[in-house]
Order: sequence, then C-alpha cells, then structure tokens
Amino acid sequence: MKKRVALLGASGSIGKNTLDVLREGRDFFEPVLFSAHTREESLLALKEEFPQACLVLSGKKDGPEGIRYFGGEGLREAIARAKADIVVNGVSGAPGLGASLAAIQSGADLALANKETIVMASSLVFAEAEKAGVRILPVDSEHSAIFALLEAHGKERAAELILTASGGPFRTRSAESLAAVSPGEALAHPVWNMGPKITIDSATLANKGLEVIEAAGLFGVTPEQVKVVVHPQSVVHSMIRLNDGAVYAQLSKPDMRLPIHNALYWPRCLPCPFAQLDFTELTLEFKKPDFEKFPMLPLAYEAAKKGGVYPAVYNAANETAVDAFLSGRIGFTDIAGLTRETLSRDWRITADSLQSIYEADKMARDSACRYITEQL
Ligand code: MG
Repeated sequence: MKKRVALLGASGSIGKNTLDVLREGRDFFEPVLFSAHTREESLLALKEEFPQACLVLSGKKDGPEGIRYFGGEGLREAIARAKADIVVNGVSGAPGLGASLAAIQSGADLALANKETIVMASSLVFAEAEKAGVRILPVDSEHSAIFALLEAHGKERAAELILTASGGPFRTRSAESLAAVSPGEALAHPVWNMGPKITIDSATLANKGLEVIEAAGLFGVTPEQVKVVVHPQSVVHSMIRLNDGAVYAQLSKPDMRLPIHNALYWPRCLPCPFAQLDFTELTLEFKKPDFEKFPMLPLAYEAAKKGGVYPAVYNAANETAVDAFLSGRIGFTDIAGLTRETLSRDWRITADSLQSIYEADKMARDSACRYITEQL
C-alpha cells in the first residue's frame, strides 16, 4: 500500500525538494494534501500533477476554485481530515507549531523540517506524539544525520551530539565589518539554497542556535551535550561521540532531498537517486565557531539552559529582528542585540501549555518591536 503524504509548505524550499522525492517515488507515495501560505499559483499547478490531493492556502481567507481550505484554522482542519500516514512540515517559522500538533493529533508520523515546533514546545509535542503513537522524524539535515547515527549506534552509547555548521557567508569577515552588512549580502548563502528567513539565520548562526535547542529537545540530551563545529563544505552533516570517545559521522552531498527521502521512506533504507557522494575531490575542514562574532549561538545555549519559555522567546525575538532587518529597519548586528535585550527580561513563566507558550511568544515579539521603535 502506498504511504499517504501531506506536504505543508509545498511552495517553499523544503516543499520543492519534497516534491522531487514524491515524483521519484510515485510507486511508494500518494500525495493527499498540499498547503502553501500565499502562493496560490504554485498550489494550483500541483493540482494538475496530483489531481487527487486536497489544496490549502493557509495565509489567505479565500482564493480561486480548486483550493478547498483557507487560513490557519482551515489548514488544521484539512490535516485532521487528510488521513495521512506521514505529514511533511515545511512551514516556515512559529506558525509551523500548530500544524505539527494537528498532524500528530491526526495520527500521522511527522517528518519535521519546522525547527520552531521543537524549539518552542518540545515536551508538549513529544507528549502528544506519545499519546497518538506516532513518530517524529527529523528532516533538518543535521538532525536527520544524528537520528540515523543514534539508530545505528544506540542512544545510550552516545555522549555528545556534534552539529556541523557551514559558518554562513560571513565566516571569514571581520566582526567590525558585520554592522554594515546589507540584506542582499546576507541572503547570498555559499552552500544551501533556502528561504530568506533561514538564510539570514545561517548568516547570524541563529540557525545553528535553533538547531542546538532542537537537538537537545529531539534527542533528550542536555544543551551541554550538543556541540557545534564549523565545517564550510557541509558534507559531514553531523557526528556523534560515543562514550568511548570514538566519533561517527554521516556524510553526503549537501542536498535536502536525502534527509527528506530518509524521513519519507523510514524505517526502510532505499536507494536515493539524488545524493551520491564523490570522494575523489573532497577536502574537509573543521573549525571552532566564533562565539564573539556570532553572539546568536551563545545566546541560544543560554536560552536552552534556562529552559521553560526561554527558547520560544529566543525564537520570537530573532524572527522579529530578522523581519526588521530584511525590511531595512535595523542593522545586521542589531539582530543579536535585540535578541539579547529581549532574553534579558524575566521570562520565568511555566511552559506547561500551548497557550502559555503562545503568550510568551507574543509578549516577546511585542517587547522586541517596542525596543526597535524606541531604541534602534
Ligand atoms: Mg540544518
């Protein structure tokens, strides 16, 4: 029987890569739902290719014929009705959390590319997943690598998870020159071709910061057990250090279709047509990340160690700052300044419900917006 697949964020970067995997795997998968935020043309184009799939436009209240559901509420309803076996969540940012919970509650496994789901609400999300008896399969390339390494070696044998970071486009630039970086410069990533939010996050290393929090949540380890190493080639996707000190790595071409392929076919390991690695022209470098030049990374560790809603606040402040940077309202280095300032407030609220997490998220965004208007 074919796996019924729902793809959220079908017009984005994860969505397009997932479509490639679905096209290659027509004998294995039946797409039952596609959602996009506002790009209705890309959604309607999919209808021609996959006429049986239900279409959802989550960022609009209405739209052309052929699209069945609208808005965030519509998306959650569509997921609940889709009876998918697996939901690929490629939604960008905090709205991905509600979609993840809807997917889990529908009884589908969750192929998760939305970091915010785990950053904001990991314990809630895992409690729901356990209740529903579903699996969470990471699609982020680093976490997909660690997932595979832990499956191979056994989680109880792992002492450390080592995330690799490309280092972003400013790895070799001086700290002083970063204040003058324009959105255009920050949007040109040397290795990965991704959406604007995650590309800016790669330039500030906030992406790696979110991934540290995500790794601790996904694999149930302390933030101290998650290490980051800069690896500009992005061929080693992550490593684990076992209790005996031995390090195991996962290597492949930097192509998101491999982690998506792995999540969609899991638990099977089938040939993947996209990611054959050629060793003959490889040089691999590893460097220490520069915590001073890229303060978003130490700030993430700080938020992860404090726990509670601090990771959600880190995420909300960063999202607000990236928006403001992309629209020219603040400078590149203000992203970290604004996040530090927002985190320095008192956020000792209990993160025991979705409501308290959303409340903290909103308060952090309001606080960050006020700081932009008043201080920057
Ligand atoms: Mg990643």
